[in-house]
Amino acid sequence: MPEGVYRRALKAKVEVIEGGVNDLLWDLAIHRYVLQRVIDALWELNKLPKRGQVHQLFYLMLRGYGFRAHIARNIYRTALALVKSAKKNGGRKPTIKKMSARVDYQDARVDLDNGVIKVIFRNKWYSLKLIHRREYIERFKYLRWKEIHVKYCNGVLYMSIIFEVKYAPYASRNVLALDINLKQIVAYEGASVRRYRTRFIDALSKKARAEELQKKYPKRWRYNNRILKRIKSLHEKARNIVIGWCRKFAKELIIKAKKHNYAITLEYLTSLHENTIKNGSAITWKLTMFAYGKLRDAVISKSIECNVPVVFINPRSTSSTCPRCSTKLVYNHRLGICLKCNFVSDRDKVGAMNIWFKVLKAYAGMPGSSPSAPPMKGEIRQRRRTRDERMKKVIKSIQI
Ligand SMILES: [Zn+2]
Repeated sequence: MPEGVYRRALKAKVEVIEGGVNDLLWDLAIHRYVLQRVIDALWELNKLPKRGQVHQLFYLMLRGYGFRAHIARNIYRTALALVKSAKKNGGRKPTIKKMSARVDYQDARVDLDNGVIKVIFRNKWYSLKLIHRREYIERFKYLRWKEIHVKYCNGVLYMSIIFEVKYAPYASRNVLALDINLKQIVAYEGASVRRYRTRFIDALSKKARAEELQKKYPKRWRYNNRILKRIKSLHEKARNIVIGWCRKFAKELIIKAKKHNYAITLEYLTSLHENTIKNGSAITWKLTMFAYGKLRDAVISKSIECNVPVVFINPRSTSSTCPRCSTKLVYNHRLGICLKCNFVSDRDKVGAMNIWFKVLKAYAGMPGSSPSAPPMKGEIRQRRRTRDERMKKVIKSIQI
């Protein structure tokens, strides 16, 4: 991941402590209404106008509704972007359902010490109190904020404050390779293997239970409040398990990486390990992709915070070849066996080792950053065996 300026968001529920929640919602409702009006007007045009022309067309109208200059500008820009992308994709006219607004620094005051944000959309200032843990808010204290989004959704007001952070990863001494799997994550740094049990299976069982309920009441579940509530809560629990575990794991991992000056490697996943797909149902597949996405996001955001380098690699064929001699492995259930050099190991460990080697190879070609491979030891190096011993071992492992 290249160094540079990245964005991090502070997300929290908010409550209105000054200005009145009804007035604020009214402002947001008018915001939604005029945004839709601008979209409607743009949609009718055969040729989309340029930014300057859009300004001339809508600015005074928006100001007429009492919106501040920068908010008015954000409204027509958002409308133009939405219409543009909908037309480009051949989609339908965009309809704005959610009440939300973007505020730039001219129209907001951020006071993280007290957790109070002041915003103005039209002619009235509102004070909003962030509802979140103190430690979470403190983490953003010394960063520069860029923009604020206020959103009203399902009866709750939310705010996200976007900060800009400089990411300058350190030069790493070694690489920590991760093989990600629904059951466990295997980490390998050239010498030893560490396994972390995930909580994804717990989440999966909640999802499976929800699906069972849907099957049991194929028609009723959608209309029966009690069943619907139960299903929703199961999905929510599954989601919370995944997100909570990913954050905890990312934190632990990044602290460890930073302590030892390691870089972290993540598979750039387009398809997970073949066996997950083959044996898994649709929900397994969905949860796996969701879990991987959350894990990646958690690791990336924590890495940016701690300046830990992250390397993405293509996981192709990482579990099919021998990490020692690159021969194709023979698999007996989850156990990989190399008939040429006698290497025997389970699939996830093979994956993590191969990822580690792949990264080292990629690194070796780059100037200034070439963590040289530490001598093989422990799990990789094995005593050279005679041919007979080797065959015996292979046969033994096949019988497991
Ligand atoms: Zn081999």
